[in-house]
Amino acid sequence: MYLFTRQLSNNPRTRIAVFSTKRYDKHTLEPAFKKLGFNPFFLESALSEETVILAENYQVVCVFVNDDLNSTVISYLAGKGLKHILLRCAGYNNVDLAACKEFGIKVARVPAYSPHAVAEFAVGQILMLNRKLHLAYARARAGNFNLEGLTGFDLSGKTAGIIGTGKIGRCVIEILSKGFGMNVICYDLYPTEGYTYVDLPELLKKSDVISLHCPLSPETKYIINANTIEQMKTGVMLINSSRGGLIDTKALISGLKSRKIGSVALDVYEDESDLFFKDSSSNIIQDDVFSRLLTFPNVSVTGHQAFLTREALDNIAEATAANCSALLNGKECPNLVSA
Ligand code: NAD
Repeated sequence: MYLFTRQLSNNPRTRIAVFSTKRYDKHTLEPAFKKLGFNPFFLESALSEETVILAENYQVVCVFVNDDLNSTVISYLAGKGLKHILLRCAGYNNVDLAACKEFGIKVARVPAYSPHAVAEFAVGQILMLNRKLHLAYARARAGNFNLEGLTGFDLSGKTAGIIGTGKIGRCVIEILSKGFGMNVICYDLYPTEGYTYVDLPELLKKSDVISLHCPLSPETKYIINANTIEQMKTGVMLINSSRGGLIDTKALISGLKSRKIGSVALDVYEDESDLFFKDSSSNIIQDDVFSRLLTFPNVSVTGHQAFLTREALDNIAEATAANCSALLNGKECPNLVSA
């Protein structure tokens, strides 16, 4: 369970537990924390109700996208002295912020570590699905160079619908419009000057490719559902590199079976926490909905890797350590999130 040798400092100010640590995390986080005088304790385990005991008596926990900081976890840790939560990601849907407020726990995130990393990955998903690179790669490895079934379409002149035009969405828009000559239409609650906005039904109706870049919130949960799928163009390509809960997966599967949806690339999945970020290749997958997704030739699934570039990891580490320093030293932290 402990990834590396326990290294506890005598200084209680440095009692920081880093959950869900992979080797690539430690490689960048450890020097970044050390540079600011901290010596955190790295654990492989995710933080959840089952593992919360491991975080007892730590002032700070550092967590990632699938650590589950629900109200039970928060209230337990508050009782044991937890003061700060460091998210090494942008999204904060996995933290009960109301509970944090109630117990006076401050939460800091990394709002922008590399929008390019995620945006470039989303564009990669579009290219892969369109030109069937996932199928072509497997065929060529097996010595099959038959081109039947590999026909794609020119992206140039087609319409891309971007839901969420924040940092990542805007990078995707730049690449698709300037790089490929696509017409881009957008939907966002808070429009940014310079982009073409439509309402959601129009975006669904007109888009050949739809890419999701809004956060997961009560308002956006299942923004892609049976009703919104019904409004899409037949054969639409759907890309989700944002959060799994944006899509009602059962409705998605129905849309794929009826061929309303032409292809889907998912880097995230609504129940990914039991599956992703580990090697499950020798396990029997218990999630039948997820297993069904894996059977479609026009579905690509990756394990929440859109963020994973060297630059993003470096930025995450530096910003997380800086957030830690600001919080522990009572300084202003620009990356606080609150209920
Ligand atoms: P951002 O905050 O810069 O942009 C989010 C945009 O969504 C904002 O413009 C906001 O107004 C809009 N939005 C909010 N609620 C909306 C709603 N109900 N309908 C339409 N638009 C709405 O965030 P970002 O940095 O661009 O990141 C977007 C999301 O990408 C994150 O929330 C996170 O979930 C996801 N993400 C995924 C990965 C990955 O590795 N797969 C990595 C980083 C971020």
